[in-house]
Amino acid sequence: MQNALLRSTTEERLMAYASYVGKLLFVCFIYFFSGNLGLSLGSINGFATLIWMPTGFALAALLLGGYRMWPAIFFSAFFLNATHGASLSPALGIALGNTLEAVIATYILIRFVHFRNAIDRASDILGLIFLAAPTGAFISATIGTLSLLFSHTIHTSSVSLTWTYWILGDFLSASLFAPFLLIWYTFHSFKKLSPSRLIEGIVVITFITICGLIILFTQSLTYIIFPPLIMLALRFDQRTVITTIILLTSFATAATAHEFGPFVMERLQNSLLYLQTFTGVVGITTFILAVITNEKKQLEQRKDEFISIASHELKIPITSMSIFLQLLQKHNQEREDEQSVDLINKTTKQMRKITNLIGDLLDISKMQIGKFELKKEKIIIDDLIHDVVDNMRDIITTHKIVIEGKSKKKVYVDRERINQVLTNLLNNAAKYSPNASKIRVKIRVTRQVALIQVTDFGIGIAKRDQQKIFERFFRVEGSDEKIYPGFGIGLYITEKIIRLHNGILWVESIKNQGSTFSFSLPLTKKTH
Ligand code: ADP
Repeated sequence: MQNALLRSTTEERLMAYASYVGKLLFVCFIYFFSGNLGLSLGSINGFATLIWMPTGFALAALLLGGYRMWPAIFFSAFFLNATHGASLSPALGIALGNTLEAVIATYILIRFVHFRNAIDRASDILGLIFLAAPTGAFISATIGTLSLLFSHTIHTSSVSLTWTYWILGDFLSASLFAPFLLIWYTFHSFKKLSPSRLIEGIVVITFITICGLIILFTQSLTYIIFPPLIMLALRFDQRTVITTIILLTSFATAATAHEFGPFVMERLQNSLLYLQTFTGVVGITTFILAVITNEKKQLEQRKDEFISIASHELKIPITSMSIFLQLLQKHNQEREDEQSVDLINKTTKQMRKITNLIGDLLDISKMQIGKFELKKEKIIIDDLIHDVVDNMRDIITTHKIVIEGKSKKKVYVDRERINQVLTNLLNNAAKYSPNASKIRVKIRVTRQVALIQVTDFGIGIAKRDQQKIFERFFRVEGSDEKIYPGFGIGLYITEKIIRLHNGILWVESIKNQGSTFSFSLPLTKKTH
């Protein structure tokens, strides 16, 4: 038994060791070949190059595999430079610089930035681009250039150029290529795109491609790439954005290397410097914008999810409590305990407010995910209006609600939802006209629509706020409005309900004189 246990732990250890060695070899292999590619493209003195994928790759390897991946960086960097003409001591120096670069950048990201590999927060991308990437690049470029200088591999006159190319190449690789690898590594599955999103995606990508081709063939107008890239950053996730940037940079590099496009200069080194500074600025700006926009969107989504879960969870106990209250009220009525009945009535009233609020929050969640459904039937609009107003007269005791006009026409609507609309408008009319005593409901009809208007003689709404009041969570800010309780969701839901009925809701109002909220509902074809 003990032997078997011992054997299995030894086997496990061997497996873990083999997997570690496998990973090291993999990193060595990729580092070596991507480095070879970079050095073959316009390097300075054969060592410093602007196309330097190994830095991004090494950073991603350490972030994903841990610090213990450092030997792979060290040995592959050493062999790479040794095979490119560096003697022993500068090759060792460069390898040391490259390894320290990856280790220190990883340390900064983990220790100070609390970096997440999915790069889905502003802090991740800002920490990488403004802290880890420049620090790492500075260390590697400085140690590397000094190693070449002290070993007399390069002349003093070329120190500054070597250092500049080195630091820029490393910085861009850590800022753009590492995120590209990390984001794809942490990616699990493609989300199903809605047809409209798919069309939007195709349009933006086509736009980018056209702009790219214009830049390539006109050999100028490089700045026209900005609008479609900004559009991409605002509308799509960071994975799509970084992939597009890497693809664009690769195409541009290939074109420039083949002496084609606006970045071509007399010497390939200069062309690449011009190209990389341009694509670096464009790429980094777009990527930062994409990450920050997506973080905001995710926070918004989480808030919606929270509202949905909280209102669902609250609905169940509130429903039970309402039932208990009804039982209690019946019991106290039988015992003729008037004081208790009165207290229970007051509690029931408050409970109704909470139930309505929870109902509103649930409606908002359903609207957000497109699950807000209507149960339509043909109704004579006047009957519905009179029913609601009769009911509301018991609740709004401070105002007299008068109905004017009639239509006797049928509309095809969800009774409950139109009831909700009118209740909401009447409640607002009463709430925002504390000094008035009348609310007017007018029924009118045109050839195609029934028109219902709710007028109050209260505080009114300033012109600048009249469109905004239909937005979610919007409340007019002002000393008058502050005293009224509310959440700014009633009119948002009301407007959506009317729109789902193919109607329109609007407001006409004069400050300190009152407001008229009107909504239209299409008539059914037949009147009977
Ligand atoms: P709530 O009343 O809960 O704040 P609503 O969505 O119903 O939310 O209304 C949004 C805002 O519109 C209110 O905060 C208020 O400032 C304004 N408003 C709505 N109805 C009226 C009204 N009849 N008179 C004056 N202001 C109104």
